[in-house]
Amino acid sequence: MNKSIQGKLAYVEKDDCTSCQLCADTLPQVFQMDADDLSEVHNPYGATEEEIQDAMDSCPGECILWKKQEAP
Ligand code: SF4
Repeated sequence: MNKSIQGKLAYVEKDDCTSCQLCADTLPQVFQMDADDLSEVHNPYGATEEEIQDAMDSCPGECILWKKQEAP
């Protein structure tokens, strides 16, 4: 399985974002900077789970997190 696994979606805890833009530079298909220069996930399916995990591991604010998808 090379896409983000079902039931596991990345999000950014904006309160802890340092606006370093590393994630948006590395994975622009997943992350973008909002009007306040804080990162947000615009497409949680834009990269593989491994790529997103790498962005998480590199984030200086440790504010990219997995959330479990709610059951419909
Ligand atoms: S890598 Fe982390 S701290 Fe840097 S912009 Fe992305 S979410 Fe914010």
